[in-house]
Amino acid sequence: MTLRAFRYLETTAPVVHTCWRCGRPILYGLAEGIPARVDITPISSAVEAAYTAAGRATYTLRRSGLIHRDQSRRSDPSLASPVLAAHQCPGRPEQLSLMSAPADQLQIDFTGRTV
Ligand SMILES: [Zn+2]
Repeated sequence: MTLRAFRYLETTAPVVHTCWRCGRPILYGLAEGIPARVDITPISSAVEAAYTAAGRATYTLRRSGLIHRDQSRRSDPSLASPVLAAHQCPGRPEQLSLMSAPADQLQIDFTGRTV
């Protein structure tokens, strides 16, 4: 058994993982001490602007690790690419109503499913 010493604000080289929830490949690493799970597909600056406006974190990928992009780093040309977005699983599950619809609104399609 090996013990690793805790390093304050450690950044680790990212490794490929599979998201335990949606099964998609992601990169995982510590970015200045904070665990980062990012999509593997680089995004454009326009997409990054939309994601950051929505509160989604973005990172610059370097061999040494993921660099969290704050406002000053987003304007730094040396950190311009590749930019990866924090992973979000696609297709959030929808909570279905436990109450049945009124009988006059129920429709049955040819497969027998209620639509
Ligand atoms: Zn996922």
